[in-house]
Amino acid sequence: MNPPAASCILLTPLGAFEEELLAAAGDEVRRVFGRETRTVGLLADIGFARDPVRGQVGSTPLLERLAAACPPEALKVVALTEEDLFIPVFTYVFGEAQLGGRACIVSTHRLGVAPGFPLPQAALRSRLLKEVVHELGHTFGLRHCPDPTCPMHYCRSARDVDRKGGELCRYCRILLNDALARAGP
Ligand SMILES: [Zn+2]
Ligand SMILES: [Zn+2]
Repeated sequence: MNPPAASCILLTPLGAFEEELLAAAGDEVRRVFGRETRTVGLLADIGFARDPVRGQVGSTPLLERLAAACPPEALKVVALTEEDLFIPVFTYVFGEAQLGGRACIVSTHRLGVAPGFPLPQAALRSRLLKEVVHELGHTFGLRHCPDPTCPMHYCRSARDVDRKGGELCRYCRILLNDALARAGP
C-alpha cells in the first residue's frame, strides 16, 4: 500500500515562540493556502546552526535539517523562530525558503524592530503573517513579485513589509493555485 499523499502544512516553532503568533500563522496558512495545518516540534536543538562569531543562526542549514525531518504526510513545513537569522551574504534575513522545496523559516527578530517606540503586537503579527505567506509561497515555486502590495514582493526593511498587503496579487494567486493543484488534494 502506498503511503498517504502529502497534503497538510506543518508549523514548527524553533525555540520559544509566542502561542498567539503561532496560532495566527496557522490561521493565515489555512486561509491563503487552503490546506490543513498541524503544529509539531521537529528540531529540539538548533545549536548546530548557530554561528559563534556572528551570534546569529544560519537559516540555510536549518532548512536542510527541517526538510530532512519533515514527515511524509506533510507537503511543506514552516518554521517560526525568534532567533536572529542570517545567510552569509546578508547581515540578516527575515526568513528563507527552499524555492520549490519543502521547508521555509521566518523569524520575528528583525520584524519586531521599530526605532523609537515599542511595536504594537498587532503590527508585529501583521508583518509576520505577510512574511510567512512570502516564504511559504517560495516553497510553491513563487518568485519575487514587482507589485509592492503583494506579499511576494521582496522587502529590505520591516517598514517595507508594512506597505505590503496580505493578499496575493492576481498573477501570484494564479501561480499558487496551479502549484496547489499539482500538489494534489
Ligand atoms: Zn523572498
Ligand atoms: Zn504578486
